Amino acid sequence: MLLTISALRAAGRKMLKEAEVDSYVIDADVLLMHVLGVDKNVLLMESDRVISDTDAERFWVFVKKRLGKMPVQYIVGKCEFMSMEFVVDENVLIPRPDTEILVETVLSKEKSGMKGLEIGIGSGCISVALAHHGGINMMGVDISPKAVDIARQNASKWRQNCNFIVSDMFANVSHRTLFDFVVSNPPYIPTADIEQLGENVKSHEPRNALDGGPDGLRFYRDICRDVTEYMTPGGRIYFEIGYDQGHAVKHILCMAGFSDINIIKDLAGHDRVIHGTCS
Ligand code: GLN
Repeated sequence: MLLTISALRAAGRKMLKEAEVDSYVIDADVLLMHVLGVDKNVLLMESDRVISDTDAERFWVFVKKRLGKMPVQYIVGKCEFMSMEFVVDENVLIPRPDTEILVETVLSKEKSGMKGLEIGIGSGCISVALAHHGGINMMGVDISPKAVDIARQNASKWRQNCNFIVSDMFANVSHRTLFDFVVSNPPYIPTADIEQLGENVKSHEPRNALDGGPDGLRFYRDICRDVTEYMTPGGRIYFEIGYDQGHAVKHILCMAGFSDINIIKDLAGHDRVIHGTCS
């Protein structure tokens, strides 16, 4: 039987829908576009195009992964963030749209040529986007060597000269350079809440990128304990925070000597970003 784009699209959707994958329409399209190496226009305009058996086979392999609740971004190995494409795999968190608020906040305040340090780079999406869109000189650390490897791939993909190293927090960061600002989207989910997350997150995304300890605030405390030693006087700090963590993280920042503290809400009206100045 000859398989066309429209037949495969419909069959993929049906299978995903039956398995109660909410995003079945878009997911079937994304997987098919990836297999064929085409964009959405081709799916729509060339719906009668005949698909080879090999491509159809690959499509079903991907659909089966999706049935196992693997996020599409891991299946296709890439994700869009800040209008840029990033390489991702199961060693790094999938960049979230909400995190664009963090990047945009930094971009609105920091100028080209400034020196920034990111703690917990994951895919490197934050640092690479700051370097690409803002001309900012970024250094970044992550405890996971596999994450640092992905982040380096993303820096070189975007031809950005970010200095990414393996380090447990500040352990391998030298005191010789002081940074104009520090940015982090640390793990901030309280340990007990992780079980309540969707299967796609809890079974596929790296736990150590999600788990913020018993109250979710462990990394804000740990970063704030040492961060001022690595900052120029008047240096700025920017954090992504959980929807209900604004008040608690503001308190941590105040105790660590930060002032001018601002909380920025996301489109849903929840706390999402907090920033302050080292006084
Ligand atoms: N900085 C990365 C991101 O925002 C990783 C964050 C994390 O692993 N908690 O996607």
